Amino acid sequence: MTRRNVLDFVQPHWRNLDPYEAAEPPESLAERGGITEDEVVKLNANENPYGPSPKALEALNHSARAHIYPDPAQVAMRRALSRYTDARPEQIVVGNGSDEIIDLVFRATLEPGDVVVNAPPTFGMYDVTANICGGAIVEVERDENFDIDVDGMLAAAEGAKLIVLASPNNPSGNSTPIEDVERLLGADCLVVVDEAYAEFAGRSVLPLVDKHPNLVVLRTMSKWAGLAGLRAGYGVMNEEMAEVLMRGKPPYNVSQVAEAALLASLEDAEILDERARLIVREREQMGGLLAEMQGVEPLSSDANFILCRLPEGRGRAIYDALADRGVSVRYYSRGKLADYLRVSVGTPEQTGRFIEALRAALQQTA
Ligand SMILES: *Cc1c(COP(=O)(O)O)cnc(C)c1O
Repeated sequence: MTRRNVLDFVQPHWRNLDPYEAAEPPESLAERGGITEDEVVKLNANENPYGPSPKALEALNHSARAHIYPDPAQVAMRRALSRYTDARPEQIVVGNGSDEIIDLVFRATLEPGDVVVNAPPTFGMYDVTANICGGAIVEVERDENFDIDVDGMLAAAEGAKLIVLASPNNPSGNSTPIEDVERLLGADCLVVVDEAYAEFAGRSVLPLVDKHPNLVVLRTMSKWAGLAGLRAGYGVMNEEMAEVLMRGKPPYNVSQVAEAALLASLEDAEILDERARLIVREREQMGGLLAEMQGVEPLSSDANFILCRLPEGRGRAIYDALADRGVSVRYYSRGKLADYLRVSVGTPEQTGRFIEALRAALQQTA
């Protein structure tokens, strides 16, 4: 009897998946810069430099319920998020990061071969997840200002299952005007709008959810609430769609600890909003400093990071020179982003170290 190779058990579209290109973790950055982890200026993953809120930290230090399974119905979280978002609890699904909501929406809807309309350059998880589902990704490139091509996306959406859009977009930082989102919602498919950075942008398409059953809005506690390491995000959508995802999700998908931190963060919303304002102020500060540097062109951003154009052909070298100085930013080797770096907005002190390192890197690579 001939036996099959182990990889023959794997679905064809799983055999050569491209993994998500994650930012380098602090330990390897420290090793590379020959410094301690505390000395690393980590501006590569849009994390919140102020960390969790006071009440969330308190909850994390006293999480007495680790031995009890979390509530699969997410009653407390949905109620608290309902107050925060003005959506009804039945419209909300909480995930192990908003990445899990992306995964749930895509798996619930996509059969192999179904079309997903994406607007690159954008967040890498949409491609990764569509590929896991065997989806057929149709890319409608953003223009030179990183604005979406609404007509192109609508044309591509004929017969498609999903349109996915980050607003503000990662890595470019610009928001899509609400009128453009409304036009996309006219397509006969599900429209996923990822608002991971909404609290820094001060605008949202959440009010459209009631009017448009085909809209799914994604939010996260990773950026605004400083809980990236805990994994908590949520989707706001049509109630029937929410119910489908609630039935299909793993029952205990959000840990007891993540739940406690999420609830406590929402109680601390005022403090988190104040920190978001600090970050926005720092973003404008850093943008001003970058704009003064020869050959450096920062894009205007609605999020907690800035995409920055560098002198042609020197992206990689400048990225490396920064890393050697213990400053980590995000570099994209591919396509039109090869001459750009994305830098997260940190504390004023981190901005200072970044700007100083960038000056040196520019000189060194000239
Ligand atoms: C950071 C980010 C997220 C957050 O994902 P989580 O899984 O909630 O941590 C989602 N979407 C975009 C565009 C992001 O940049």
